[in-house]
This record gives sequence, structure tokens and C-alpha cells, in this order.
Amino acid sequence: MNFKYDLGIVGSGPAGYTAALHGRRKGLSVVLFEKAEVGGVCLNRGCIPTKTVLHSVELLEEVKSGEELGIYAPDVKADFSKIIERKNQVVAKLRKGLELSLKNSGTVIINSEAALKDKNTIEAGGEVYSCGKIIVATGSEPRTFSGMEIDNINVLNSDGVLNLTELPKSIAIIGSGAIGIEWARIFAGLGVDVTVIELAENLLPIADTEVSKRIERIFKAKKIKVCKSVKVDRIDSEDVCRILLNNGKTLEAEKVLVAVGRTVPDKTKIDGVDYIGDVCGEIQLAHYASKQAIELIDGIKFDKTLVPSVIYGNPEIAWAGKREQDLDEGSYQKSTMLISALGKSHCDNSTDGFIKILSKDGKIIGVHIVSKEASALIQEVLIAMQNNISVDKLKEVCFAHPTYSEGIFETLFGL
Ligand SMILES: Cc1cc2nc3c(=O)[nH]c(=O)nc-3n(C[C@H](O)[C@H](O)[C@H](O)COP(=O)(O)OP(=O)(O)OC[C@H]3O[C@@H](n4cnc5c(N)ncnc54)[C@H](O)[C@@H]3O)c2cc1C
Repeated sequence: MNFKYDLGIVGSGPAGYTAALHGRRKGLSVVLFEKAEVGGVCLNRGCIPTKTVLHSVELLEEVKSGEELGIYAPDVKADFSKIIERKNQVVAKLRKGLELSLKNSGTVIINSEAALKDKNTIEAGGEVYSCGKIIVATGSEPRTFSGMEIDNINVLNSDGVLNLTELPKSIAIIGSGAIGIEWARIFAGLGVDVTVIELAENLLPIADTEVSKRIERIFKAKKIKVCKSVKVDRIDSEDVCRILLNNGKTLEAEKVLVAVGRTVPDKTKIDGVDYIGDVCGEIQLAHYASKQAIELIDGIKFDKTLVPSVIYGNPEIAWAGKREQDLDEGSYQKSTMLISALGKSHCDNSTDGFIKILSKDGKIIGVHIVSKEASALIQEVLIAMQNNISVDKLKEVCFAHPTYSEGIFETLFGL
């Protein structure tokens, strides 16, 4: 059978656009369908907009603490509408760049909702496209629960919060995953009264427990209130939001952000079609989505246990591999060092955090970092883990001074 395209891709988020660009690199003819904005959640409503807003807040906090460093800016203040305007500009610029890259690569972009007829046929905009192979990369949507109805006016999800034009006086954030933690940092940095409500007994329950405990300390210092081990039964949204908890208490806040994870609306799958990215319901991260795309096109498997997690803000949080709570006592070695032991952290006035490395039989099995530049540090260790480089071999590397990388070097010596 003659197909019009070698590859048809539904969804242009990190999974879809990476598959398209990589498919073109490999000489495949590619048609890519997108019903909304090119770039998917990551570029338009996820990674990029949140990190752009967060950067403004980090700058504000840094300038505010400048007096200690001999920098005086007594009247520094934030203009929230300007922060949001810049966020929109950054997103628009990157989206334009991505559209151009896709066009220049020779990918055919169809701006329309697509539906699969069978494993080789896609229908979109009244046309039928026959494809040798189809990839579905349609992503995920914010999850909600009954009693937490989203109106995106007072009760917001991760999409609605990006459209706020004015800062609320107070906000309750339900869920302390990556999205909840980052928005708590954003709002608190802008002077909003923030309360984080978490069902689990620790904040950021997906992290190593020691990391969770450190975040709690950091939140306390930033006056972010935390309610743990508590479930939200209902939100009543009138002039003010009332959050009814299962312990009988009620919290009040001007706005509520529901950040309780993401879900995949349509779970039906067609045999012979590949599903990648958030739609798989596995690890819902942009780099996992794009790695899956490369894996699929190249047919080379990657180690899914070595996917880094990063939470942004000050300080950053990053981890990969095993968490301590997953390991049997005595079955591994552990070394931890405080970031305050590093000269560079004092130069930068950023001494909060630690590096923890877990090893077994001379190989690193887990790494957990709370530190400025943690997002970069994690990659150094991951390269070693991916390539089975032993702790002893890593110690032979010469680490530059003064850097946060020296912290990795020093931690290795404790193993
Ligand atoms: C607030 C927030 C912050 C985040 N921050 C990070 C971060 O810092 N780092 C990180 O790694 N991840 C982050 N993520 C997660 C990341 O955004 C997702 O993991 C990533 O976008 C998944 O990519 P994807 O390609 O699978 O799907 P998506 O990015 O969701 O893209 C799917 C695309 O498919 C389109 N589509 C769906 N159905 C159809 C159809 N029938 N026809 C045509 N098009 C269709 C959609 O319109 C969408 O554009 C964040 C998410 C959120 C919400």
C-alpha cells in the first residue's frame, strides 16, 4: 500500500514535535496535527510560562536581599501585569521559533483536531491522511475531583492560574507536586499569603523524604503555611473560597489553585499505533516525552529509571534514581554534604540545601539535590549513572573551583 506520509503525528507538544523533527532528520515524510497551539502544554501552559514567571520572582527576591551584598534598591517592587505580559511574549517568541523549525524541517503542519480511523489513517479538517506509521502524542489535562469544580475565576487549575491579571491577597494551593511547589514559591515571593494543602504526610511526596523535609523548612522561612495529611472535601466559592477539610476545619482564601496532578481523558488505544508523552500516563515530564519520541524513531531503548525530576525556584530541587525510603536499611551507602560547606554558595549568598548520593557496590543508585543550580548538577551525576561509571572513577575527575559541582566531588568522598 502506498502511504502519503511515512509518519503521521497527532499532537505537537514535546513528544509530537520531537518525533516530527527527528523523523525528518531520518528522512521520513511527516505530517503533524495540532488542534490548539504548536508546542503543547509544555511551551504554552506548562514548563516555559511557569519558569518565566518564576524567574521574575527570583530576581525580585534577589534584589530585595541585595542590601546584605551591598546593593541598595529600597523601592523595588513587582508589576504583576508586566510579569504576565513578558511571560506571554516569551511563550509567543518560542512558539514562533518552534513553528519555523518544524516548517524548515519539512514537516507538514495541519492546524486541526485529528481523529484516528485505523492504525494507518487520520481524519482532520474533512481530509483523510494515510500514514505508514502513526504516533499519538495528545498529552494530558489538569485533574480535578468532585467538590473541587474549576471555574478559573476563583478556583483555578494550572491553565487558569497563568491567566490571572491581578494578584490575590491569599491563595490556597491544593497539592504539593512540582506545580504546587513552584506556584507556592511564585505567590509567596510576590507577597501573597499562601497555604499549601497536601494529602500525604510530607510535602512533595514523590521526592526523597529528606528533600521533602528540607522544602518544609524552606517554606517555613518564606512564611508559606503548610497543612499536611489532610484531604479537601469541598471548595465553596462565593465572595471568598472556603476549603472544607476532612479534619473538620475550614480554610479561607481569595483564590484556590487545584494542582492535584494530570489525567488522560481518552484512554482507548489502537493496536499498531504508538502512544508517547503524557498520554501514556507514565512519567509526565517534557524531557521524558521527547526522549520517548527519539527512542521510538531510533528504536534504541533508554533507561526509564534514570529520568531526572527538577523543581524550580530558590533553591532548586533535583533528583534521580532511588529514594532512601525505597531501599532496605543497610543495603546501600549514603553520603550527604551541606551546600553551606561550599565556597561558591557563600559567594552567591545561597547556602541553603544539600547533596545526597546513594550508592551500592561502588555505583551510584540515587542522587538528591537541594541547591542553586541543582538542575545542572543532576545531569553530571546522571551521565555517570547512565554509563555505569563507578564512584572511584568519578573521583578522578577534576572539578572546577569555586562551583556547586565541587559539592558532588566532596559528597563522593563520603561513600
Ligand atoms: C504548570 C506545568 C508546569 C510544568 N513544568 C514542567 C517542567 O518544568 N519540566 C517538565 O519536564 N515538565 C513540566 N510539565 C509537564 C509537561 O508540560 C508535559 O509533560 C509535556 O507537555 C508533555 O508533552 P506531550 O507532548 O506528551 O503533551 P502536551 O504538551 O500536552 O501536547 C499535546 C498536544 O496535543 C494536542 N492535541 C490533543 N488532542 C489532539 C487531537 N485530537 N488533534 C490534534 N491535536 C491534539 C494538544 O492541543 C496539545 O498541544 C509541566 C506541566 C504543567 C501543567
